[in-house]
Amino acid sequence: MAQNEKKYSQIESKDIKLVKRPSDLDEFDDDSNTLRAVLSCGHVTSADSLTDCCKAQLDRGETELKCPVCQKKWTYHEVRLLAKLTDNEQQYFDKTLGKSVIKNSPAQHYMLAKLHGTGDVMASQYFQIFIRFNDKRDSPLIVATSKEQFENTTIQQIKEKFIAATPGMPETDRIRAVFGMDQLDDKETVGFYQITHLSVLTFVMRMDGGSGS
Ligand SMILES: [Zn+2]
Repeated sequence: MAQNEKKYSQIESKDIKLVKRPSDLDEFDDDSNTLRAVLSCGHVTSADSLTDCCKAQLDRGETELKCPVCQKKWTYHEVRLLAKLTDNEQQYFDKTLGKSVIKNSPAQHYMLAKLHGTGDVMASQYFQIFIRFNDKRDSPLIVATSKEQFENTTIQQIKEKFIAATPGMPETDRIRAVFGMDQLDDKETVGFYQITHLSVLTFVMRMDGGSGS
């Protein structure tokens, strides 16, 4: 019985929060000595229960993966991470989700092409960068649909786009943007700093005034 079990160890990616609470997805998975992962919706699962749960959804032809308890949507990223998908499972997930995701949006289509390594299917039409904020994982941000538009985008506009796409973000003037060694001026453009497609920008929160005193 144990041979197929995917166990979490104490040391996993810092993106994974581990707890010793019983599974919310499988009532029989309640051994209090087993580490389980907390999903973005707050529910707790083992890698195996999550794999089975998501597989069942894909088999039913679902196009999104959702928590069966609270109906909140899970990202494919977290499912891959927390379900510890094997190569075979991941292939199945990619293939099954891929079919439905492509219908949804060009941005997802592009991300998927990148994920699959199937070449830059849409790369010529989408110029995107990644934003690293508060040491969390990098979030993709589509900036423009042409090279010219991309290079003329100001840092201020990038901040605004990121804030619009990210719930709970502070005002633009509370964020410092950094690229490589440069702290970026809001009025300058992407082209000025030689930021390119798929570059990673780091956003740092400015401390409130007087914190250093
Ligand atoms: Zn949930």
